[in-house]
Amino acid sequence: MIPGPFSYHRPATVADAARLLSTLGDDARPLAGGHSLIPMMKLRLATPEHLVDLHGIEGLRGIRRDGGHTVIGAMTTQHDLLASAEIAKSLPILHEAALLIADPQVRYRGTIGGNVANGDPGNDLPALMMVLGATYRLEGPGGARDVAAADFYQGAYFTALEPGEILTSVSIPVPAAGHGYAYEKLKRKVGDYATAAAAVVLTMAGGKVASCAIGLTNLAETPLLAADAARAVIGTSLDEAALKAAAAAAQAIMSPAADARGPVEYRKHVGGVMVTRALQRAAGRAS
Ligand SMILES: Cc1cc2nc3c(=O)[nH]c(=O)nc-3n(C[C@H](O)[C@H](O)[C@H](O)COP(=O)(O)OP(=O)(O)OC[C@H]3O[C@@H](n4cnc5c(N)ncnc54)[C@H](O)[C@@H]3O)c2cc1C
Repeated sequence: MIPGPFSYHRPATVADAARLLSTLGDDARPLAGGHSLIPMMKLRLATPEHLVDLHGIEGLRGIRRDGGHTVIGAMTTQHDLLASAEIAKSLPILHEAALLIADPQVRYRGTIGGNVANGDPGNDLPALMMVLGATYRLEGPGGARDVAAADFYQGAYFTALEPGEILTSVSIPVPAAGHGYAYEKLKRKVGDYATAAAAVVLTMAGGKVASCAIGLTNLAETPLLAADAARAVIGTSLDEAALKAAAAAAQAIMSPAADARGPVEYRKHVGGVMVTRALQRAAGRAS
């Protein structure tokens, strides 16, 4: 329960943090809220020799509207998301999902940047970011670049981040007015990671689904965009056949691990149930 020894660094700028991370190499890790990293260090599953704390860097925390996008600084906490009127108005699915992360203690410290950069398939926000068409701003010794959330996740704890790079913000296009949304998460108890979860954002026109995106959490090594499942409902009135086809298409791309949350068959089954429920609830909210 006690982490190994490490040196602590507190840079004041992104450039200094990137310089430290690239100089110290694999032995260094950025520290945000610490609610994924510190438990791993206590279990000795992570043993960084240097922690580069991002809390001293001004400008990494906050939520602002930039034209048709909502831009969220990496060090914005999950609690900040819940307290934001802008998020409640423009991105209500983010509010709904943030409320399902862990418990208030974790949400006061845990950041959006840490949640999406970690690469943990159990984290709730990555699939949501894919569904919303978000892009991540990555800054490092080589400058800044933007990577789509859909291209960021390469394997469990393996992402598009290059050595020395920090995720500095998340930019999310504001969904169409009147869109429907839902994040359905099955968990064993309050505060647990998902056994299976599905995110849906859709629009309806004349009683039929006009556009749809479906994301899956903790049902593979990475968050997934279920494109075939979304295609199965577009143009339908979400009748039973369409819902069944969407659940089956989503299940076809799921490859969850068998773990304390259940065997593979069970997790795929409830994954399909989460997709069905999220589609129905999202359609009920669309106007
Ligand atoms: C009891 C418990 C229950 C939890 N349940 C859930 C849950 O249900 N759903 C869920 O989504 N999460 C859950 N979490 C995780 C929580 O949301 C974490 O806070 C979050 O995953 C990581 O954010 P952090 O700011 O704490 O990052 P940290 O723990 O500080 O960092 C996590 C990793 O990301 C890297 N990192 C952090 N910030 C950046 C950055 N800006 N750029 C590049 N790399 C960075 C770090 O180096 C580290 O490798 C739980 C945590 C606990 C302790």
